[in-house]
Amino acid sequence: MIKFLISAILILLSKIFMALWVYKDAKSRGIDPVIWTLLILFFSGSLIFLLYTLIIRKERNIICENCNFIQSDNLIYCGRCGNKMKIDRHDELDNNQGNKTFLAIGIILLISSIAIGSVFIYETISKDIDNIPISLMSVRTKYNDKWKESFRYKNGENTHKFKIKDKTILNCSWNIESGSIEVKLYDGDKQIREFNSNDNPDYNELIDLSDYKGSKITLKLKAKKALGKIHFFLE
Ligand SMILES: [Zn+2]
Repeated sequence: MIKFLISAILILLSKIFMALWVYKDAKSRGIDPVIWTLLILFFSGSLIFLLYTLIIRKERNIICENCNFIQSDNLIYCGRCGNKMKIDRHDELDNNQGNKTFLAIGIILLISSIAIGSVFIYETISKDIDNIPISLMSVRTKYNDKWKESFRYKNGENTHKFKIKDKTILNCSWNIESGSIEVKLYDGDKQIREFNSNDNPDYNELIDLSDYKGSKITLKLKAKKALGKIHFFLE
């Protein structure tokens, strides 16, 4: 949360410095400074800033003293009469000296805020992803007396109920290549069995459930960033 606040404050500060630079720069170029400063402050600062630096500030025209032809101040000679244009870049240079500090501070602040913001976002996502129940690239068959699933990334809890009638043996097997799974068997609220892939990443067991004939056994599976496959079925 602190990182988020710092990031937000830095973005605000970088906006202010960029706005200061744009204000002075626009004023020295005869571009309306108020509009561009307001745009920077109240819209996406970096977007408007790019638009301004890349397009708008390039647009400075001067008039030929000889024939009144208007052209860009980048050209030394008049395009119509060939008169040497009087380009006075003194103001601009003077302004730019002091102005570059605003620009540099603005950009440094913006980059730091993006860096801190990214760390904040990354931390939030990676913290949450441990708790988000997801199954990535999984193939699953889960009905009646069968639960078969393979997955590249499985997180969270799943349950399945097995009705014990004619088939009383629960065949449990798995192969967990990374991460872990934890399995618990319940008869109602009562826990019957518990096993996990930390003890046995490659596991196969036949569990006799003939004592629970006529009831429903709940299998609870808890996966943590698991990669592999599981197979539970009654036989
Ligand atoms: Zn001219």
